Amino acid sequence: MIERRWMERAVELARRSLEEGTYPVGAVLTDAEGRLVAEGRNRVLPTGDPTAHAEVEALRGAAAWFRAQGGDRRRRRGEALTLYTTLEPCLMCGGAILFAQVGAVAWGSDDPYGGSHRILQAQSHYDGHRGRWSRSRTFAEPFPDLAREVRALMRQWEERRGRLEEFAWPEPEEAR
Ligand SMILES: [Zn+2]
Repeated sequence: MIERRWMERAVELARRSLEEGTYPVGAVLTDAEGRLVAEGRNRVLPTGDPTAHAEVEALRGAAAWFRAQGGDRRRRRGEALTLYTTLEPCLMCGGAILFAQVGAVAWGSDDPYGGSHRILQAQSHYDGHRGRWSRSRTFAEPFPDLAREVRALMRQWEERRGRLEEFAWPEPEEAR
């Protein structure tokens, strides 16, 4: 089940990234019971690390969470996890999501400039929990008002960089 409160939390984290002068993207991972596992936000520009995307940070946090749980290494799989990210994952994060075998991915807004939606839908991973090949379930723009909020953040960011003409970030309904 996709819960609004976690997408709202991801938007909060995205806002914090914008305040820190980098791409406004936030991500939250929850377990099968809908409890918080890890959070992340974009830190690319403050750290100079091109891989410091919100989703990667959250997945690293989840690895620490799994280690802290101890137990069987085989249980350290992502199938039971749900990833909430403000923006459709990029190619790198889409790959990381597949390698982590994340069961469900929800994003606040589609990314018309480079999302990995098609890759996530085309690729499967071995789901040890169910004993079969499985795909990450995807939920694009589940909350229309939050989709608009995410795009407003992206517009603010592009405006700040003077690239709003290149990356216009239309309202979700205009893009369809
Ligand atoms: Zn990414």
